[in-house]
Amino acid sequence: ISRNGHEPEFIQAVQEVAETVIPYIVQHDIYHGKNILLRMVEPERLISFRVAWVDDDGEIHVNRGYRIQMNSAIGPYKGGLRFHPTVNASVLKFLAFEQVFKNSLTTLPMGGGKGGSDFNPKGKSDDEIMRFCHAFMTELCRHIGPNTDIPAGDIGVGAREIGFLFGMYKKIRNEFTGVLTGKGLSWGGSLIRPEATGYGTVYFADSMLKTKNETFEGKKVVISGSGNVAQYAAEKVLHLGGKVLTLSDSAGYIYDKDGIDEEKLAFVMDLKNNKRGRISEYADKYASAEYYQGETPWKVECDIALPCATQNELNGDDAKALIKNGCIAVAEGANMPSTPEAIHAFHDAKILFAPGKASNAGGVATSGLEMSQNSLRISWTREEVDKRLKGIMSDIHDACVEYGEEEGYCNYVKGANIAGFVKVADAMLAQGVI
Ligand code: NDP
Repeated sequence: ISRNGHEPEFIQAVQEVAETVIPYIVQHDIYHGKNILLRMVEPERLISFRVAWVDDDGEIHVNRGYRIQMNSAIGPYKGGLRFHPTVNASVLKFLAFEQVFKNSLTTLPMGGGKGGSDFNPKGKSDDEIMRFCHAFMTELCRHIGPNTDIPAGDIGVGAREIGFLFGMYKKIRNEFTGVLTGKGLSWGGSLIRPEATGYGTVYFADSMLKTKNETFEGKKVVISGSGNVAQYAAEKVLHLGGKVLTLSDSAGYIYDKDGIDEEKLAFVMDLKNNKRGRISEYADKYASAEYYQGETPWKVECDIALPCATQNELNGDDAKALIKNGCIAVAEGANMPSTPEAIHAFHDAKILFAPGKASNAGGVATSGLEMSQNSLRISWTREEVDKRLKGIMSDIHDACVEYGEEEGYCNYVKGANIAGFVKVADAMLAQGVI
């Protein structure tokens, strides 16, 4: 805390892990006295750089770019890039720290990293996005590579941005390699990667429900966000027979009493991915829906909640409202969307709760599968990738149960933290003090 006290998101993420991992370390002699956690919280490398770019009117702008290379004990650094005005070192360090545990849980050999910029993509033209991405990569390319650090997308970085970033990397380095994941299908991308985080979150929630002899069939589901993760979480919920009641963006949420079916979801995907519009436009189009400006959807009565927007979007009061309204399961599609107070409330009420580092690991797992396909220079079918994704999510669920069992209740936070920790800690011990 003395070294990172000015970084609240990072401290929050570390405290959540420390609460569950320190008691485990104390009970296990091989980890005790080795300062493993102290080493894990210090990034191996933190790179910060200037990104200067020119807008359509010829004005010059300066943003700050980052790459946090957190831990490479079990593989090259891997983690997304976020372009959002709220990006700073604290936010990226929390995401990079979480990523280390998440990547470990996937069972694939990937270390953890994260990066991005305080650049705001909203309202920018395609040309401005391209110039920013190119400028960002002219510096980032020195620090990454297919065997060193393989970035991917995150908030504000989707297929369009990955294309511009990849193009500049290829030009500068004069090599066509799998240095980024989330690539287009015709140039090295993997089938199912766009769907993977949302689908994986629902697969994980489904595994949790099965432990209580429940399924998604006929369940009322509340989802926040309307970006990549939210869209595909909604799609998979529909596949499994659930009813999706809400979606949101940073301005508010829509509640559709008739449910968001496949046709309405297609409208949302076009609105958000092609037209880059606002979720309020959904309520203009569909009479069954109402729009709530400046609010989050957690007071809507539901059986299952899937927060898929951003960090700290679900607080203690929201958690209490969900519990009071009969919610039986919460699975995080976003990273750290629930505040510590919310998590404690879920645990006290003994409802099923999956932390993002476990339930949203399907995205990075499928990025790992994209890396494998790039190295082998082959492409697996949709069915093959989906089958592997399902298998990985089921394995992560089982690992959480193994380490998280507490007198008949599974504490998935504890399970995910310890299962993720053990693999990285063992590798660090084997490699010595470096
Ligand atoms: P997108 O940029 O596609 O969508 C983000 C969504 O969240 C948008 O609806 C956005 O609304 C909303 N949002 C962003 N900031 C805020 C805010 N401050 N308050 C309320 N809503 C907000 O990102 P993704 O769907 O890719 O990512 C969503 C979450 O999932 C993030 O936490 C990310 O780290 C996590 N995640 C993503 C993975 C992936 O594969 N994409 C993998 C693992 C985790 P608006 O349009 O108004 O900005």
